[in-house]
Amino acid sequence: LRAAKNSDKNDKVLVSIRVRPSDVSSAWEAQMSAKSIKLLPQHHRNAATVPPLFHFDEILTGSDNKSVYNAVARNHVCAAMDGYNSVIFAYGQTASGKTFTLSGDDDQPGIIPRAMKDVFACIRRMPAREYLLRCSYLEIYNETIHDLLAPPSAPTVQLQGSGETVWLTPLREEVVTSLAGVRAVIARGWAARRTASTDWNDRSSRSHSVFRVVIESRERGDTSGGRQTPGLPSRPPTPGGPRLQSIGGRSVQTSVLSLIDLAGSEKATSDKERTREGKFINTSLLTLGSVISTLAENASKGKSDHVPFRNSKLTRMLQPSLSGDARISVICTLNPDVNAVAESTSTLLFAQRIK
Ligand code: ADP
Ligand code: MG
Repeated sequence: LRAAKNSDKNDKVLVSIRVRPSDVSSAWEAQMSAKSIKLLPQHHRNAATVPPLFHFDEILTGSDNKSVYNAVARNHVCAAMDGYNSVIFAYGQTASGKTFTLSGDDDQPGIIPRAMKDVFACIRRMPAREYLLRCSYLEIYNETIHDLLAPPSAPTVQLQGSGETVWLTPLREEVVTSLAGVRAVIARGWAARRTASTDWNDRSSRSHSVFRVVIESRERGDTSGGRQTPGLPSRPPTPGGPRLQSIGGRSVQTSVLSLIDLAGSEKATSDKERTREGKFINTSLLTLGSVISTLAENASKGKSDHVPFRNSKLTRMLQPSLSGDARISVICTLNPDVNAVAESTSTLLFAQRIK
């Protein structure tokens, strides 16, 4: 698992656009290249809303999840294995392809299964180090954090901490040692989401789902005496990276890889949606935009402007994973249906804002 040659390590935030194939005859047309996109004016009712030509790190089309992984996720998984916190987001309106991109299906596995496969491949290639992987799977719905791996009767998860240190409690973390183990954890999480909601589609479009892996590693000790090396310590991650802590003379490196399927970014369309839930979604996505754009700006201009992590549960929870020299990839998905032009435009504006 090697980072691609053209990876720019100073680029804190990678922003890409993914346009899913059209299943309708009335698709909008766009002027697209490998790095730029412009929706053509004939689809816009009001010429003033026609977005300009936008430039991003990658414009991706089609159904090939492997090339998407290689282009916008692989380097982030590499970075996590090297000890850097990494976060990958899928942002877009409902039905634009967020879940397809992150989870995929049997024919086209998405970023989560490909990332975990690479993590294990990487571990096999590093026999001199020992690793401990702990997975958690959470859902944020109406600004409440639910642990998808805990029993349904379990209390909701609280954020604790001060300053840049944040941890979640109570949080179930499953130690995984194989891809099969990861698949079982994910299946449990999906089952929990389904049972928790009377309307699965509705809830899944209104909640953020967060799959996290804490990766701890250290040099193997001298095992010639046949003694087992003690288990790695468990502790909340700290900001900055790579994180090293000395245990028994050997330094432990800790990083967190977070893979996040965001709530649908669409504007409220009915009265019901304009209520509580809609407001929470808008606030948390707006906050995410402000947080990422400030982080990108601080990183590129050497500034230290205030980052509003505390304005939403999602960003506060991710604060340690986004701060310092963490790597961020945001994949903004577009539905090419002509009826989705307004939402696609607002997704492009969000993407431009965080770049
Ligand atoms: P979201 O999670 O954003 O609501 P989904 O990922 O569920 O959207 O996608 C909606 C539908 O479109 C699904 O049936 C999905 O399989 C299909 N789809 C999305 N993106 C692609 C793509 N790039 N290639 C092929 N099918 C896709
Ligand atoms: Mg989805």
